[in-house]
Amino acid sequence: MTKDSPTSAPGVDLGWLADRIDYRRYQECVHCGLCTASCPTYLVTGDENDSPRGRIYLMRSVTDGRMAASDEVRKHLDNCLDCRACETACPSGVKYGQMIEPYKIAMQLSPSPSGTGKVGWLLKTILHQIFPYKNRTRLALAPVRALKAVGLFGILEKSGLFRILPKSLQAMANMLPETLPAAEPLPERLPAIGPRRARVGLFTGCVSDVMYPGTNSATARVLQRNGCEVVVPPNQVCCGAIHYHSGAEKPAIELAEQNLRAFPFDDLDAIVVNAAGCGAMFKDYVHLLHKRNPEAAARFTAKVRDISEFLVELGPIPPTGSLPLDVTYHDACHLCHAQQVRSQPRKLLEMIPGLKLLPLPESEICCGAAGTYNLTQPEMSRELGERKYAHIEKTGATVVATGNVGCIMQIAKIVRDHEKPIEVVHPIDLLDRAYSAAPAKP
Ligand code: SF4
Ligand code: SF4
Repeated sequence: MTKDSPTSAPGVDLGWLADRIDYRRYQECVHCGLCTASCPTYLVTGDENDSPRGRIYLMRSVTDGRMAASDEVRKHLDNCLDCRACETACPSGVKYGQMIEPYKIAMQLSPSPSGTGKVGWLLKTILHQIFPYKNRTRLALAPVRALKAVGLFGILEKSGLFRILPKSLQAMANMLPETLPAAEPLPERLPAIGPRRARVGLFTGCVSDVMYPGTNSATARVLQRNGCEVVVPPNQVCCGAIHYHSGAEKPAIELAEQNLRAFPFDDLDAIVVNAAGCGAMFKDYVHLLHKRNPEAAARFTAKVRDISEFLVELGPIPPTGSLPLDVTYHDACHLCHAQQVRSQPRKLLEMIPGLKLLPLPESEICCGAAGTYNLTQPEMSRELGERKYAHIEKTGATVVATGNVGCIMQIAKIVRDHEKPIEVVHPIDLLDRAYSAAPAKP
């Protein structure tokens, strides 16, 4: 904050924001506009206020007291996916995420009188009280699992019955995978196969472990095959991203502190994460815990690696099994923009004998999942999903690989709607399959 900045303005608590946003962040933007072409929302609406430059201008104007956090301003800020494509594009190194994330929380803490942009109580309960806790999510989804198992879920969906649900719940129901698999609990310790090359902690996540437990098992197997002893701390919890990105900072901090206690990070070579959103959140713990426990957070964060990043650093053991598949790769925003991990998943896929990697146009443009964005902003999310689908279809690929559970669910949903036989998986699932597949016949 500048010295002469006002301490209050209609709409948001500027004192709260001043504690969290260094005013220099706004000043770093030189308004060049080089980020706009990479912004998914700007590509869809063509509105400057839906571009990074426009949003920085709006946030700075509210902070300076020149503009109220009106419904119109909130709409443009809420529309932001927090995908951070603008950070990749910006030659001035503007840290956009460090402005929009506190702003989104501040808007939730001070809702507009009209309720614009407010996360409703039901969705908030689901996001804050159910999703971050895997056992609660499994329990809540048990009836859905039963309906899907006997084929009734699809019938109810097609009957239009779900239309009586609020839009966010409709989006949630639509997003569920075709089958909800049973839990695959991992033991606390898995030995390395062959000579031990590293000792790693495995983060299993919350929603991802309920929706795709097989990917966690595949990750553990791949690590073992690459000579890693795998530690799976039983007291690990949700990374905090669901709370943090929907306006609840305090519980996010508590979850982060619990993870710091759960992982014996000083004794591990790496903390391995297979969900881009969670990995990005882990890597941001220094920022989140800067007032509470910055030293421990820095030591924890230094060990965090996406699974592909870790394997490439370690030197992956090439699989001999053949997967004759045409695969395209979508860059999850929280992997390519927030963590700058781009080449590593591709390297792993290219190692697989028989697999053909087809380039995906606009692979770094958000698919519309963006954490809980597909629940809070279903229309824009859908537009971006359709745009992604059109590019995928043009590649002719029969498999889409992407390193984030949210993207897998979002793309799989759009593919289902188009009734195309395209499989959507995590790259590590393919690598795991290749380790146990038969070699190609000569
Ligand atoms: S985070 Fe993504 S949606 Fe938001 S302004 Fe940046 S590029 Fe646009
Ligand atoms: S955020 Fe960066 S690229 Fe975008 S207008 Fe500002 S300085 Fe230019």
